[in-house]
Amino acid sequence: MFKTTIGLEIHFEAKTRSKMFCSCPNEEWNALEEKPNTNICPICTGQPGTLPVINEEAINKIIMTGLALNCEIALESKFDRKNYFYPDLPKGYQISQYDLPLCKNGYLDIALDSGETKRIRINRVHMEEDTGKLCHADGKTLVDFNRAGVPLMELVTEPDISSAEEAKKFCQELQLILKYLDVSGANMEKGQMRCEVNISLSKSDKLGTKVEIKNLNSFKTLEKSIEHEIKRQSELLSKGEKVVQETMGWDDAKGITVSQREKESAHEYRYFPDPDLPPLVITPEKIDLIKSRMPELPDNKRKRFKEEYSLEDPEIFIRDPVLGEYFEKAVSESYCWAEETSCNKDKKEIARICANYLTTDLQYLLKNEPGAVIEKKITPENFGEFVCLIADDKISSKIAKIVLEEMYNTGKDPSHIIEDRGLVEIKDEVEIEKIVKEVVEENQKAVEDYKKGKENSFTFLVGQVMAKSKGKANPQKAGEMLKKELGS
Ligand SMILES: [Zn+2]
Repeated sequence: MFKTTIGLEIHFEAKTRSKMFCSCPNEEWNALEEKPNTNICPICTGQPGTLPVINEEAINKIIMTGLALNCEIALESKFDRKNYFYPDLPKGYQISQYDLPLCKNGYLDIALDSGETKRIRINRVHMEEDTGKLCHADGKTLVDFNRAGVPLMELVTEPDISSAEEAKKFCQELQLILKYLDVSGANMEKGQMRCEVNISLSKSDKLGTKVEIKNLNSFKTLEKSIEHEIKRQSELLSKGEKVVQETMGWDDAKGITVSQREKESAHEYRYFPDPDLPPLVITPEKIDLIKSRMPELPDNKRKRFKEEYSLEDPEIFIRDPVLGEYFEKAVSESYCWAEETSCNKDKKEIARICANYLTTDLQYLLKNEPGAVIEKKITPENFGEFVCLIADDKISSKIAKIVLEEMYNTGKDPSHIIEDRGLVEIKDEVEIEKIVKEVVEENQKAVEDYKKGKENSFTFLVGQVMAKSKGKANPQKAGEMLKKELGS
């Protein structure tokens, strides 16, 4: 067995109004994806004599990101030039941060499938600018500078990760945090978040030869490429062969990593401080201000949902914050209804019913209508009342389905729907007894089968009572009375 050591380098574009060092739009451009080379200016195309200006909004967003990832925020940092030639880099260098990153020494705790929590240390998060894009078409290579100069954050972890699962969980939790903070679109398919993996296998504690996997554009390819690389490297090492230090890509069709270029040693980028940009000085007051504006983070919300509402698995509400927010509003409305109607169900039971209907029946309705906004379909107040009616046993689960669907389609409140459609549950025993007697009369074959010991027949008879009462009989009561009628 070999020990697997993985480190991640993750780039994510900051969501800002303009690019990192010029006033070209960023957000709108990202949304529109305009024609090539229409969103450029002399600064982001690196014309001689131009001067970059630091985008404060991007700096605020990286500070917020660093705080969320438990990093130290450097009060003094600077921008450096990373020199290399590539056609998508018009200046011949990229403005980045070398020895003084803005955020360092952080960590992120991830929950593993085993139930354990693992802490992954974060070496740094620094600010840089994105490059242009090369497009290959008809045997030609064209360059589009629209993306050049878009603010980009780079996060580097310590080599604390030891499996594909851990790497995937880290990236997923990071993406969730970026979305909560609204600092990045973090959409992997759109290239707003890009992952690179450094992976090595070894027998001892000494690190093995490192292989880099680049350009992973989904959590799935990240996971699959790591699994494949662990298998490939352990086969090589088992045979006594050497792993070559190289950069690889992922061939999704073949399901394998493929060599891109051999890497001799670290690049010689000849970093030096950018003479056009002043040192970046951050005051503790600014950090405090940003801290005070931070929203609740996913992990805190996860813990709160478990404690406050006793939800065993609140993950759906954490991954879908809009649904999570709706849930909280609806539950609080339910509590009000429960108080007004002196419903004696406890608050945890009410929250459980609310979560249950939101994650099952309502999801089903929403799935049939892509793009539908839940709050526009059913107000949290109406949903809260609906939950309260169920908690208070005023409607059966069968009627609840009908009511919910009508609430969804018409936006009406549940008590009006129940009244208009005569869906009030039959509580009157005499009335249920009458139906039970009719059902027994009409289904002699099933009655005989039941008396011979066929349990299925009983379920069938209860179903008949429910159908005859148009779902309005209380199923439990119907069952009890049926048993009495059948003399068992
Ligand atoms: Zn520009």
